[in-house]
Amino acid sequence: MSLHSWGRLPGAPAAAELALAERTAPLPAADGSLLPYGNGRSYGDVCLNGGGMLLRMRGLDRFIAFDADPGADFGVLRCEAGVLLADILDTFVPRGWFLPVTPGTRFVTVGGAIANDVHGKNHHGAGTFGCHVLRFELLRSDGSRRVCSPTENAGWFAATVGGLGLTGAITWAEIRLRRIDGPLLAVENTRFAGLDEFFALNAAAEARHEYTVAWIDCLAATPRGIFMAGDHLAADAAQDAARSAPKKPLSFPFTPPVSLVNGLSLRAFNRLYFHKPLPARATQDYAPYFYPLDGILHWNRMYGRRGFYQYQCVVPPAARGAIDEMMRAIAASGQGSFLAVLKTFGERTSPGLLSFPMPGITLALDFPNRGAGTLALFARLDAIVTAAGGRLYAAKDARMPGALFRRGYPAFAEFTTYLDPGFASDFWRRIKE
Ligand SMILES: Cc1cc2nc3c(=O)[nH]c(=O)nc-3n(C[C@H](O)[C@H](O)[C@H](O)COP(=O)(O)OP(=O)(O)OC[C@H]3O[C@@H](n4cnc5c(N)ncnc54)[C@H](O)[C@@H]3O)c2cc1C
Repeated sequence: MSLHSWGRLPGAPAAAELALAERTAPLPAADGSLLPYGNGRSYGDVCLNGGGMLLRMRGLDRFIAFDADPGADFGVLRCEAGVLLADILDTFVPRGWFLPVTPGTRFVTVGGAIANDVHGKNHHGAGTFGCHVLRFELLRSDGSRRVCSPTENAGWFAATVGGLGLTGAITWAEIRLRRIDGPLLAVENTRFAGLDEFFALNAAAEARHEYTVAWIDCLAATPRGIFMAGDHLAADAAQDAARSAPKKPLSFPFTPPVSLVNGLSLRAFNRLYFHKPLPARATQDYAPYFYPLDGILHWNRMYGRRGFYQYQCVVPPAARGAIDEMMRAIAASGQGSFLAVLKTFGERTSPGLLSFPMPGITLALDFPNRGAGTLALFARLDAIVTAAGGRLYAAKDARMPGALFRRGYPAFAEFTTYLDPGFASDFWRRIKE
């Protein structure tokens, strides 16, 4: 009854919560619907189940096995589904291993990362998290258990990767880890003005760098931003580089009654961020590079009691004009966000029937919940995304119309054949018809 998602939007609570602590235990017999809950880092309602039962998966937090041949570039970790990516990093980075793909927070579970088939700054080379999942066990409400992989129960594998927790509960998974020489990255930062400059920088950087992403100020008259490229530091450079002591995270202490994020604070923050002293080249620890927002725990509270939305879309590579149009619509609305993120997705096929990434350009922005005004802006953005042949990311969504989701995901009908009849979510009830 206390669980919410990252956007903290008001909504109906679950009727019951149950913590799973043993992967061999059966699921509870529930009259209503069940839904796995990872660590609630989804922004909207894919992890919520108003009136139903949430299965807290964090208790399944054990490492089971790790195998790697000496000198191999990849190792295989088998762990329970409630293990946090943060736990994997804490344990394996000192031993020279890293996640093959990581989202912008490390406080997500392995099960949640699979169920949203999350992506990171290396999508142009590595694809999604699901591309590096070798196997998992799927526990259904009828008590059956299936081991699923790209070759064994392959249909169930494709439905469950990116399957939003609706095909059953993942109890354990086997994922690839990649070798690194140390915890440091070589980072290049470049300021840019206008989308043409972004696309030119991006094309050159994707050919040379493992990680790329841009922060963009969509409130400025001409969109401007900072392009960041990074690579794990090679052994010889890693030995010489200094590593500053990891900083203790700060914590946002309370939820104010109203949002502290408004037009004034956004403009001021974005201006300061754009002009902050920025080394063109730097050596950085992996944590601040990949997870800058994890440095302030509970930062989502600053949006106040009404919470906030994230809007993340992807449009095909040729639809650059759509990004331009969206930025203009956002600037004109006076609503907008800190740290709007712009990135291109590569060609690697996502393994899930409902995986979000497809080749193209993705834009993600946070918006304080200002009620009807915010929803009207989203309707305008939806129209641009639809006209461009794009789609929205369920993990970030709390309001998209069902038709937009169903049209954006061509394998939707096929996916429905794998649904667990005992499972449902607020998201699913909203978009299924
Ligand atoms: C600051 C921040 C940055 C982020 N950056 C990115 C990013 O760069 N890229 C990206 O892709 N995402 C990003 N996200 C979103 C986040 O990575 C995903 O929403 C992720 O899936 C959350 O995982 P979780 O463990 O918190 O799961 P939850 O949010 O609790 O649940 C997510 C979904 O997984 C299902 N689920 C959870 N556990 C299981 C299980 N064991 N078996 C079956 N289904 C399960 C749930 O039912 C739900 O549908 C970001 C989120 C935040 C807060």
